[in-house]
Amino acid sequence: MISKDTKTPARVDRRFRPSRKAELIAGGTVVLAMLVLFTLVRPTSEAASPAAPDWLTYSDFSQDMPTISTAERVGTITSRTKAADVLEVLGASPEDAARAMDALHETGLLGGSKLAAGTVLTAYFDEAANDGLGQLVSVSLRADPRTSLLATRKPDGTFMTSTLTARVFTSMRRIAGSIDTNLADALIAQGGNESLAESVAALFPDDTQLSKGGRKGERFDIVYQVAEDERGNVLETGDLLFAAYNGKQSNGSWYRFEPSDTGRAEFYNRQGSTQKPLLTRYPLGYAQISSGFGRRMHPVSGLLLLHSGVDFRAPIGTPIYAAGDGVISQMGWSDGYGRQIHIDHKRGFETVYAHMSGFNTKLSAGMRVKRGDLIGYVGNSGTATGPHLHFEIREDGRYMNPVSLNLPSGRSLAATPEEMDKLREQITTIDTLRGATGPVTTARLTTLTIPTNP
Ligand SMILES: [Zn+2]
Repeated sequence: MISKDTKTPARVDRRFRPSRKAELIAGGTVVLAMLVLFTLVRPTSEAASPAAPDWLTYSDFSQDMPTISTAERVGTITSRTKAADVLEVLGASPEDAARAMDALHETGLLGGSKLAAGTVLTAYFDEAANDGLGQLVSVSLRADPRTSLLATRKPDGTFMTSTLTARVFTSMRRIAGSIDTNLADALIAQGGNESLAESVAALFPDDTQLSKGGRKGERFDIVYQVAEDERGNVLETGDLLFAAYNGKQSNGSWYRFEPSDTGRAEFYNRQGSTQKPLLTRYPLGYAQISSGFGRRMHPVSGLLLLHSGVDFRAPIGTPIYAAGDGVISQMGWSDGYGRQIHIDHKRGFETVYAHMSGFNTKLSAGMRVKRGDLIGYVGNSGTATGPHLHFEIREDGRYMNPVSLNLPSGRSLAATPEEMDKLREQITTIDTLRGATGPVTTARLTTLTIPTNP
């Protein structure tokens, strides 16, 4: 559906080609004898025109905009229409429509050749030009949530482009309430998302129900980061910063904090401790890595394979300790791995120890072990070029890099009073927000302009 500028219906009518194409256009026309766009693109010095909204910055134009009767018309691309077709239906000549779209595509900011269905084109027309038939002056569209592109007609009839980037702010948002169906739904209902629910559940790993959504009536309180524009529209949802949960199995509060000495963000409780580590990365008690995780040429077969764990070089007979509490799920011989033990831990984690020379004879499959229990000795059984422990950590069946895998550190900030002070500041900031209403803007993320085609 196309509506038209109420002030000049006759002119607009003459320019519109009826309608096979028009029927394809999903959008309507917003009618506005507007100067907004001209304000944005008018050439300016530092003393910018005061009417320019401060959330938009703009490239410097050398072209002066005529102050003439101008109409804004809006169309939406559908799966069956091309952008140039939409512009033609709005009133552009085929040549202008093609030139404007070519210029926009030349910026390289629009991805592939075809614009996605739903993309909105805002076109501005000089209605007096072309003997009253009207002429396309400019076209703008959103390349992504933060970036708008603008193609503007030059006196020679070609189009130049510029990029308008919204200023983006980071702020914190809080959502608190109780579960009706599940945690994700409760968060989504208040503007959150599913990934936040997963982050909350990860903080309470012993709660068998929370990873499945929690129980009706259980209470939550979270604070998270968002990137938003100056109008408060959320552009992206960022990290969880705080989560408190009060339920049948879980009760506690966790604050995200990044100690400056390690730069490693983790969740700490009010006393300054992270969660206990589920696993150690170093089951020999020390680390002398002879071969890291990742793709490599296999030393025996010569094939390029994923090295699914880490090799720790050590003399035959060096004690191997369980990396975490769990149940021995396999213990015995396997081709390649030689003498091996698998331990099942909680939360989908499994550790594997291979090439052993012998087992702790008191153990057998199905038995429980505690972290640090002696399980066996380093050897070179199976396919091994020399004595070493091949150690794997698998998460939900996937091979993880034991060295870089994100595991709780078990750190307490009590040993580093400066970091503890910073955590307390962070806790105060979060708790103040929890007592406040509305979003709190904390920092500006980006504000930049890229002239794409000056
Ligand atoms: Zn290995």
